[in-house]
Amino acid sequence: MTAVVLHPLETIVKRGQCMGCGLCAATFRSHNKGVAVTMTFDSSTGTYRPEVSGWSELVEPGTFICPGAQMDMREVSQQVFGSQPDDPVTGMLLGVRAVCSSDQAERQRAASGGAIPAILRHLFEQKLIDAAYCVVSGAEPRDAGGRIIRNATELNLIHGSIYHPADFGRELAELLSEDYRFAIVGLPCQIAGFRMLSAKQPELRQRCVITISTFCGGINTFDGVSYYLEAFGIAGSEVAEIRYREGPWPGRISLRLAGESEYRSIPRIRGNSRWRIMRYMAAFQGGWMLKRCRICPDQLGDFADISVGDPHLPRFRHMCAEENGAGYSAMITRTTVAETLIAKMLELGLLREKPLSRDELVASQSYTLDNRRQANVYAQVDRLLGGIPPHLTVYEGIDRRTALRHYVCACLDLLKIVLPKTALIRRLLPYWQVFEYLFLRFPFLLIGNRLMKILRGR
Ligand SMILES: Cc1cc2nc3c(=O)[nH]c(=O)nc-3n(C[C@H](O)[C@H](O)[C@H](O)COP(=O)(O)OP(=O)(O)OC[C@H]3O[C@@H](n4cnc5c(N)ncnc54)[C@H](O)[C@@H]3O)c2cc1C
Repeated sequence: MTAVVLHPLETIVKRGQCMGCGLCAATFRSHNKGVAVTMTFDSSTGTYRPEVSGWSELVEPGTFICPGAQMDMREVSQQVFGSQPDDPVTGMLLGVRAVCSSDQAERQRAASGGAIPAILRHLFEQKLIDAAYCVVSGAEPRDAGGRIIRNATELNLIHGSIYHPADFGRELAELLSEDYRFAIVGLPCQIAGFRMLSAKQPELRQRCVITISTFCGGINTFDGVSYYLEAFGIAGSEVAEIRYREGPWPGRISLRLAGESEYRSIPRIRGNSRWRIMRYMAAFQGGWMLKRCRICPDQLGDFADISVGDPHLPRFRHMCAEENGAGYSAMITRTTVAETLIAKMLELGLLREKPLSRDELVASQSYTLDNRRQANVYAQVDRLLGGIPPHLTVYEGIDRRTALRHYVCACLDLLKIVLPKTALIRRLLPYWQVFEYLFLRFPFLLIGNRLMKILRGR
């Protein structure tokens, strides 16, 4: 029997190296006119993936950008910043601060402090951009995708964090084919992929005024979201609309079922029972996370001009509560263009600032950042489990920080992904989550941190 030869993109999907960003479809080029790549929603995996048509092994596979199969942090850093970061935990860093939009309504609608819409609005109003490329929610959950925003009014569409798969590249080919100036917002992998593309198409660097990345702890399939909703008696298949960050920061899930007009409000971590928090963790931080997101070296949008996330710290929890639940954005500026822009917006009063140190920023991302930077360990464990991980090159100095706890976390996180989600396992997951937090993950984190302090003589 002859083996079926897979197109390189099909191999990437098969190996679990694809995060469904769609950069391949948007940048695919082939001399053979009959070969095409489109993004399709695969309901068996609950995520987007490229579909190759018209290709056979007799035809050259064409070219495309894929930040999933390969991520060379040193090479992309060199290309974008002309050097390596001094700090391998944060990546290149010029400024760190917490900010919020001065537009109170915008801030309330946003996931965090509304930094992203405030920046884009300013760029539109100053006529510094003709378009902004952002992911927006679709008519129904599975329709979320990239969209060319043409003016400041349309920014009302972009608020909120979409934690399930979105077709980021949906309108990217159109954006690339035009000649206007734009800003682009994406997850760390999407911005890294965009930078890889800019290295091949230098004219993009002239047109792209600014790149903005959200921090990212990973994408979950919609099946994981459904698993969480089951605990509230809601079938994921009936959800017509879902927003993950509504109301007082850090926000609750707000959803509407098909045929209903009322919205239901469901807690995430804050205001939830301990038991349901375990279920939330199992659903959003466990077995339904895309494998490539687990083996990701970049949580902080290392290659964007500006990166933004949530300052998950008690100080900000109190401040937000005192400000009627309005949030703040943790912000890193990585280029002089970005730092100048933010300084100008602060001077004009379009953003308000609170101090945030580098150490506080790192602490605000807790063990997620600690593990992401150890993506090489995750890749090794994936290989031990029989997988073929993406080809990664992490920053110099990261391996000196590798500890036993990283191997423990990698085993736990990757095993959960390969486990079949049978009815019994779905039932047991919250119990497992409790066991893991009590006896495995945090004890190792605590012991590891204390051991490091002793070794460093502190
Ligand atoms: C999948 C995901 C994981 C995240 N993980 C973390 C984390 O681990 N730690 C942390 O501190 N913060 C995380 N964030 C970032 C945080 O939740 C906020 O999105 C971010 O701070 C922006 O908030 P804002 O108030 O400035 O903007 P908002 O007004 O809320 O605008 C949100 C912006 O993010 C874009 N966006 C939303 N979802 C997606 C998506 N799926 N793909 C691409 N772009 C998207 C929108 O297009 C919009 O431009 C995550 C966000 C996402 C989407």
